[in-house]
Amino acid sequence: MASDVTPVTSVTSGTSVTPVMSAAVLRALGKPLETEVRPRPVPGPGQVLIRVRAAGLCHTDLHLTDGSAVTPPLPIVLGHEIAGEVAEAGEGTAVRPGDRVLAYYYEGCGRCGWCAEGSENLCPSPAAKVGFDSDGGLSEYHLASARRLVPIADSVAFAEAAVLGCSGTTAVRAIRCVARVAPAETVAVIGAGGVGLAVVQVAVADGARVITVDPHGPSREQALRYGADTALDPAATDPVAAVRAATGAGGCDVVVDTVGSEHTPGQAVRMARTRGRVVLVGYTGRPAALDVLDIVVRETEIRGSVGATLADAHTVMEMAASGLIRGCVEAEYPLERVNEALARLAEGGVTGRLVVTP
Ligand SMILES: [Zn+2]
Ligand SMILES: [Zn+2]
Repeated sequence: MASDVTPVTSVTSGTSVTPVMSAAVLRALGKPLETEVRPRPVPGPGQVLIRVRAAGLCHTDLHLTDGSAVTPPLPIVLGHEIAGEVAEAGEGTAVRPGDRVLAYYYEGCGRCGWCAEGSENLCPSPAAKVGFDSDGGLSEYHLASARRLVPIADSVAFAEAAVLGCSGTTAVRAIRCVARVAPAETVAVIGAGGVGLAVVQVAVADGARVITVDPHGPSREQALRYGADTALDPAATDPVAAVRAATGAGGCDVVVDTVGSEHTPGQAVRMARTRGRVVLVGYTGRPAALDVLDIVVRETEIRGSVGATLADAHTVMEMAASGLIRGCVEAEYPLERVNEALARLAEGGVTGRLVVTP
C-alpha cells in the first residue's frame, strides 16, 4: 500500500514557482490514504503555517477512515494531533519562525455561550474540528489559526507533544474538570490505551491512588511505570470484584471508562462507591447496559467528558514541560507509510499511540 514518493518542494509554471508539500489524503471511505503533492498554503492574517514534525494517530482516525462513527467531508487530510515548528507567521500573530507549537484541533465559533465560558468543546457550531471536518496534520505543512497554538517546551519531543494534544488534553478534562479528583482519592481507569495512560498520569499527578484495568499486558506494565498502584487483567479476574477488593471501601471514589463498550459503563458503575463519580470518556456507538436500580440506590454520579478545551491543552503542555505527563509513543512512521500505521492500529495491541513524522 505504501507508495514511493519523490520529494518535491516546488513546481514551476511559467515564471512563478509554487511551493508544494506532500499530504496523505482520504478520498473515499474505507480506502487507503493517498499520498499526493499539493500547493503549500500561505498564511493569511491571524494564521500560521506549521512545518509538521509529528502527527499522532488514534482510534478516532480509524472511525473517520471508514465513516463508522463520524463521516468526514471528502477529500480530507486527517490528523488532529499535530506538533511542529512555525514555518511562516501571518500578519498579526505573536509567534516567530522556528517556534515549537502544538496546533490544538478544536476551534469554537467564539460567539456562543459555551465559547464565552471557555468550554469550546461543547460549541454547537465550531469554526473547525481540525482533522475531523477540515485538513489536519498528515501533511508536511499545516495551516493553523494562531489562536489555537500552544507552545511546546524544548524538553518535550514533538511526537510526545502531538499525542498529548489528544490523549493528555482529554485526560486533564476528565480528571480535573469533570471528575474533580482530590488528593488521596481512589481512581479506577478502565482501558490503558493512549487516553487511559494519560488519565493514569494526570490522576497520579493530582495525588490519587490509581487502579488500571486492561487486557493488554504491555499497556498494564506501562500504567504501573506511570504510577498506577495496581493493574488488573479483566480476562484473568472479575474486574469489578477485584477493584472493590483493592479499595476495601465498597468501591472507588472515581471510575473513568476510556473504553465505552457494551460492558464497561456497567462495570464502571459497579466499581464506584456509594455516591462515587463515574466519568464516561470512551464510546463505540453501540448501546451499553446499565443497572438503573443500582445507580439510584447508591446515588452514583455519571457524567460524560468530551474532548477538551484550549485551556486544557495549555495545562497539559505545562505538565509535560514539568515532567508530570509523558506521551506514550510505540512507534513512528514516515508519511508514505501512514497506511501501514493505520493497519497496525486497527490490528490492536498498540501500547500508547503511533505517530507519523511527515
Ligand atoms: Zn486523537
Ligand atoms: Zn461556540
